[in-house]
Amino acid sequence: MIISGKELSVKLKDEMKAQVATFPDKYGRVPHLVVILVGEDPGSVSYVTGKAKASEYVGIRNTTIRKPDTISEAELLSLIGELNADDSVDGILVQLPLPKHISEDNVIAAIAKEKDVDGFHPLNVAALWQKQDCVLPCTPKGIIKMLKVAGVEIKGKRAVVIGRSNIVGLPVSKLLLDENATVTIAHSRTVDLPSVTRNAEILVVAIGRPKFVTADMVAEGAVVIDVGVNRDPETGKLCGDVDFAAIEPKASVITPVPGGVGPMTITCLMENTIECFLRKHSIM
Ligand code: NAP
Repeated sequence: MIISGKELSVKLKDEMKAQVATFPDKYGRVPHLVVILVGEDPGSVSYVTGKAKASEYVGIRNTTIRKPDTISEAELLSLIGELNADDSVDGILVQLPLPKHISEDNVIAAIAKEKDVDGFHPLNVAALWQKQDCVLPCTPKGIIKMLKVAGVEIKGKRAVVIGRSNIVGLPVSKLLLDENATVTIAHSRTVDLPSVTRNAEILVVAIGRPKFVTADMVAEGAVVIDVGVNRDPETGKLCGDVDFAAIEPKASVITPVPGGVGPMTITCLMENTIECFLRKHSIM
């Protein structure tokens, strides 16, 4: 079974669109997401465009603020401060990565926790690990939604996550743990990775290396979630961290790249923006 994140995203966005259409009557306006793009990196431009398109579809107001990569950290922090204070703004997202002279940690920490639609603010991260109310990071949130929609029982399963980044590996491990999976986190120093991954009933791969996970690393019937977004060195096309063609016949459930986790990440961003808007109106 191939889980189409694309199809699920369309369904969820349609539901959000209907919900947002009721907001002007109920609250006098729609949610407002501000995305800050520093520089002109083509990958970042494409992600920001995707976020603007999704916002438009759902009916969320989107403002994209473009700044040159010569902007200083102080100027960027000052802009974030203004947006924090602006009552008409519900969500703030600064597209990463940032130029080297700007500290991503300082920028993330500067965004008001209640407007942190990415769920990267240290207070949101702490709340996640303490099982408190928080904004869930979009990619891990999207992965859990996909597993649930596919009817995958997470409770009691052996889950292996390859990757321990703050953005994907660690938070997805925590969410799987919260769903009562037994979670192993693997990384670049893991010894004999295939023996670890072959033990997985649910395998989440977030490394960033094209077709790194081969069929011999996956157990028959495993659920395989491919988070990676890479260029296939042979064809130049988008591909995941998993050798999809070789593993798809073995897996019980698998996500494709493109069209898997990626669309769900943007969809969860829309959901987080609505959540921040509703929290502000104290009606969640
Ligand atoms: P990252 O910060 O570079 O982390 C990569 C992780 O992979 C690290 O924990 C690293 O281990 C581990 N790793 C690297 N080589 C390995 C190896 N040979 N064996 C085992 N583990 C290895 O990357 P990220 O931000 O988590 O992103 C991972 C991938 O997901 C990228 O392709 C990114 O583009 C993609 N992504 C997709 C979405 C989406 O919406 N679809 C969202 C975010 C990211 P160490 O910790 O030991 O270095």
